[in-house]
Amino acid sequence: MDLSTMNKEQLEAIKATEGPLLIMAGAGSGKTRVLTHRVAYLLDEKQVPSYNILAITFTNKAAKEMRERVDKLISEDAAKMWISTFHAMCVRILRRDISYLGYDTSFSILDPLDQQSVVRDILKTRNLDTKQHNPRSILAVISNYKNQLIKPEQAVAEAAGFQDELYSEIYKDYQEILYRNSSLDFDDLIMLTIELFNRKPDVLNYYQTRFQYVHVDEYQDTNHAQYQLVQMLAAKYRNICVVGDSDQSIYKFRGADIQNILNFEEDYPEARVIKLEENYRSTKTILDAANAVIDNNTERKPKNLRSNKGDGVKIDVNVSFSEREEGQRVVQKVQELSDKYSYGDMAVLYRANAQSRAVEDAFVKSSIPYKMVGGTKFYSRMEIKDLMSYLKVIQNPFDDISFQRIINVPKRGIGAKTIDKLRAHAEQLNSSIYDAIRDADFLGIPAKTVGKLMSLLQVLDNLKEKSKYLTMTELVDEVLADTGYHDMLSSDKTLEARSRLENLEEFKTVTREFDNDNPIADDNLFNFLSDMALVSDQDGMDDNSGVTMMTMHASKGLEFPVIFVVGLEEGIFPSRRVQFDDQELEEERRLMYVALTRAMDHLILSRAESRMLYGKTETNMQSRFLSEIPEELLESAGTMAAGFSGGSGVTTGTGSSFARGPKKRSRIINTNKTGTAFNVGDKVSHKAFGEGIISQVKGEGDNTELDIVFKTAGPKRLLANYAPLEKK
Ligand code: ATP
Ligand code: MG
Repeated sequence: MDLSTMNKEQLEAIKATEGPLLIMAGAGSGKTRVLTHRVAYLLDEKQVPSYNILAITFTNKAAKEMRERVDKLISEDAAKMWISTFHAMCVRILRRDISYLGYDTSFSILDPLDQQSVVRDILKTRNLDTKQHNPRSILAVISNYKNQLIKPEQAVAEAAGFQDELYSEIYKDYQEILYRNSSLDFDDLIMLTIELFNRKPDVLNYYQTRFQYVHVDEYQDTNHAQYQLVQMLAAKYRNICVVGDSDQSIYKFRGADIQNILNFEEDYPEARVIKLEENYRSTKTILDAANAVIDNNTERKPKNLRSNKGDGVKIDVNVSFSEREEGQRVVQKVQELSDKYSYGDMAVLYRANAQSRAVEDAFVKSSIPYKMVGGTKFYSRMEIKDLMSYLKVIQNPFDDISFQRIINVPKRGIGAKTIDKLRAHAEQLNSSIYDAIRDADFLGIPAKTVGKLMSLLQVLDNLKEKSKYLTMTELVDEVLADTGYHDMLSSDKTLEARSRLENLEEFKTVTREFDNDNPIADDNLFNFLSDMALVSDQDGMDDNSGVTMMTMHASKGLEFPVIFVVGLEEGIFPSRRVQFDDQELEEERRLMYVALTRAMDHLILSRAESRMLYGKTETNMQSRFLSEIPEELLESAGTMAAGFSGGSGVTTGTGSSFARGPKKRSRIINTNKTGTAFNVGDKVSHKAFGEGIISQVKGEGDNTELDIVFKTAGPKRLLANYAPLEKK
């Protein structure tokens, strides 16, 4: 194993394998790299069996990356090592032993939409209004209880005041429903694992003995439950290595507690603490900017972090007139940099998912490939939810939440009355709707409907059998065929039905990937479903083909040669909600620090003077975070429309990248910058879409949009000045 590229402190951290170790260091100082090498060192040099090692990462992607890196570093098979997120680890533990807690081992994992529908049902039963009691806020309260390891009974007992009492009661109902459905939400995965360990000391002992070396990355963002879990697992050997950076703690809203890392030395008085002070990721300019920003937080210990790279280029600051223009300028800069970097080297970061739309629009209209990370939008589409519900019912027949979704989709003439009867009967039996159907004959349900229910049951039972020997892709095809779902869509000739079919096809790229990694086995359906449930913010960005778009939160731990940070406006970032709360403001500033330190070579910051967001147009001042960056590090440009809009904030520079003129822009943009005028009826050809005819021209100047019907690609709306179009 080659450790020659490691610096002295890194080496020390890699070799300090026995006893507790805290690596506390700034962004890009090699914390994750050290963790990976440390694991490899244990396997390779210390001959520790991979079976005895646990490494917890913050995201699935990080877990996968770490496994690949370790695989590369060592010759031994690292397959038995547990490298995973907290949640994936708990799924594995619970899958073995959750029956001790009364849940079925085929348990389902709820997604946020399922959770909301459970809460809505509870509110309905209690005759409460969803407007007055927002299901999402209630779920946040429930999540909070769980992260604090407060069980429903305790929550109810300790509740003070009307709202507390009500919400703790709802928590109790919620937990009972989940239990009856053998369903877990995300927070349950951690909470129930701890409960299992508490109730079954021999199970805990098994894992304590097994995991002789425990590692946790991004420790600053663990919540109380996760913290507790780590303590339990590491209690026997106390070989626990945690790495983190208190300046990058950004998940307080999910219960993360920065004190966990700050108190490590109290928890483990014998702990070694190692600081890493060299940053290998970012240029000095970028690092200086990030350090200057985070320096404004008062509640922190100052630390040294110096760049190991040269000065690099200045940071671009673009001031745009509107969010649309901001998007266009991102496109422009992407094109400009695409001579030197691939699209996969670039990422656009924003505060809130809603901000992605304007940038996405600009990418679509200029046909720049991009991928959105996070945004579980795809999985919340109706047809995908339906398919997933079928799969969940096949896996876990107790899952009424999913069953009710598909019992009459496609329409089988099973109405609300029938479902109510089945539900009531299930409740009486303390069982599931699935089981209740077997008694349908005696429930006063019309004979014809009973027949339909029975044949549905038959189909589902058959599919369950098939799930044992089919690949996931084959199973999905069978589900769509046998349940009539595919026919329902293909007989519907609307565009909408067609796009739903396309999405289901698209879903099969996911199943195919799963099939490639997993040989057919009994557990496949369960594993596939839990993988899907654990899809996290950073998933879906594995292919290296397009510009990555994601929230700043999702970017944690990652790095890109080129980073765009958009929407640097007061009210957007820092968001309006936190402006008068010092603690929250400091958390937002840490988020800015995370965003800036993702960049290796190029950092492009932008803001818009007016922005339409959530349907409202607002005019915002420059973000204080932008003002906190020393001016000598910046190179600024005013709006496209007005040139430099002097006076308002950072617009003082001279050599703006935009002002340098079109010479530097890539070929694609230049195609139309010659001023081609497009008219309705013109025949055009597009680099990717081929030949088409213009059906509509809207707007003017840089905003001119063309509706074009392409021969093969169908109708598209493109920006005249940016799309690679030629008139024929
Ligand atoms: P973050 O706080 O953002 O999670 P980190 O401290 O985990 O950052 P890494 O991602 O491990 O930092 O490392 C940042 C970059 O620096 C990576 O590209 C890594 O390969 C590189 N790097 C770290 N240490 C060295 C070294 N000794 N020599 C060369 N490159 C290094
Ligand atoms: Mg890291």
